[in-house]
Amino acid sequence: MDNLKSKVAYLRGLAEGSGVNESTDQGRIFKGVLEVLDAMADAIDQLQKNQEDMEAFMDCIDEDLAKLEEDYMIEDEGIMEIECPNCGEFVEYPEDAVDDEEDTLELLCPHCGEVVCVAEEENLDESDDSDEEDDD
Ligand SMILES: [Zn+2]
Repeated sequence: MDNLKSKVAYLRGLAEGSGVNESTDQGRIFKGVLEVLDAMADAIDQLQKNQEDMEAFMDCIDEDLAKLEEDYMIEDEGIMEIECPNCGEFVEYPEDAVDDEEDTLELLCPHCGEVVCVAEEENLDESDDSDEEDDD
């Protein structure tokens, strides 16, 4: 904000140099306007400093949050496992991924590369005999 302050200072110098003084109404008004501009430049300067502090603070929070998320994701809360029907390995997926999509989620098994479909939890348990297809 040095730019704003220096512009106000320039105007003040210009006014003084050209004989504007408080003995006239215009001079008083001009001085008042300059004072307001000066105060605004100060206020904006302060706001900008506060904003920079806030951004630095947010960066810290962001880093801390990322660490927390990493730690939290390693816990098994929110992580579901499904057995790959092709190779029998367990595939992990986030629990809420199913709710975000429709009722099913397609995953790639990292072990064999096959697509594994995840239905809503309740459907999973009931679909043990899986070979029946019904097309409506
Ligand atoms: Zn597999």
